[in-house]
Amino acid sequence: MITLQNIEKVYRTSSIETLALNNININIRKGEFVSIMGPSGCGKSTLLNIMGLLDEPSKGNVAIDGQLVKSYRDKELAALRNQKIGLIFQSFHLINDLSVLDNVEIPLLYRSRNGGSASGKSRLDHAKEALEKVGLSNRTKHFPRQLSGGQKQRVAIARAIVGNPEIILADEPTGNLDSVMGNEIMSILQGLNNDGATIIMVTHDESMAKKTDRLIRLFDGTQVGDSVLRAGGAGP
Ligand code: ADP
Ligand code: ADP
Repeated sequence: MITLQNIEKVYRTSSIETLALNNININIRKGEFVSIMGPSGCGKSTLLNIMGLLDEPSKGNVAIDGQLVKSYRDKELAALRNQKIGLIFQSFHLINDLSVLDNVEIPLLYRSRNGGSASGKSRLDHAKEALEKVGLSNRTKHFPRQLSGGQKQRVAIARAIVGNPEIILADEPTGNLDSVMGNEIMSILQGLNNDGATIIMVTHDESMAKKTDRLIRLFDGTQVGDSVLRAGGAGP
């Protein structure tokens, strides 16, 4: 599903060069739930951004479903990203002056502006359906400030899944939550994975990582571990 070959990422600022990723080779299979762990600054977010087609590697190849990402034009790449990938962040990244329902509709608005056909009614239905999946049907008219952290993250998950992406990338989705809410979020992610989504999650929390299928460890930009925790995933 996602193949990374010999990935290197160097950040260059005026005077400093940081080797953020060094010769990374990873193949994520369809339907896998993968966690990525490692100390702060080891390259986890950089790796996730490259997998999410938000950032380009300095060297190496990224392929999605066997197709080299390099071969896409910018516009095709944006469409691919919008269609295939849902993103979840530690700090939720909700828009504070939009209602819960409006926040969840955002990816569909973007899609319809770029040639998609979703009508207002169908966007609304899809957004409601996504909120139902995360158990927030009773909060559609609320605003983010009126929600708990766990509820905000559930809205962010609804926004990530509203377009039915095959891949969900989560950067420390439970990092700002207490363990009860964190476990709730993990259950939702596990449910989405059981329904077929491929999920890649960065986490600092060993107990969350243990609930996934596979644990990749990074240290200082290098992959130092890749262990299968349970059978997961369905194919290449
Ligand atoms: P992690 O997510 O594991 O904390 P990051 O991927 O954010 O690590 O960062 C890896 C390394 O790259 C760090 O040394 C960080 O300071 C550096 N880095 C990340 N993003 C940038 C950037 N945009 N410009 C310069 N250096 C960066
Ligand atoms: P979140 O909490 O929402 O996951 P982060 O705090 O991890 O966000 O990172 C926010 C953004 O800053 C990311 O896009 C990440 O790539 C970027 N970033 C991380 N470290 C650095 C750095 N040292 N220099 C510049 N940008 C960075």
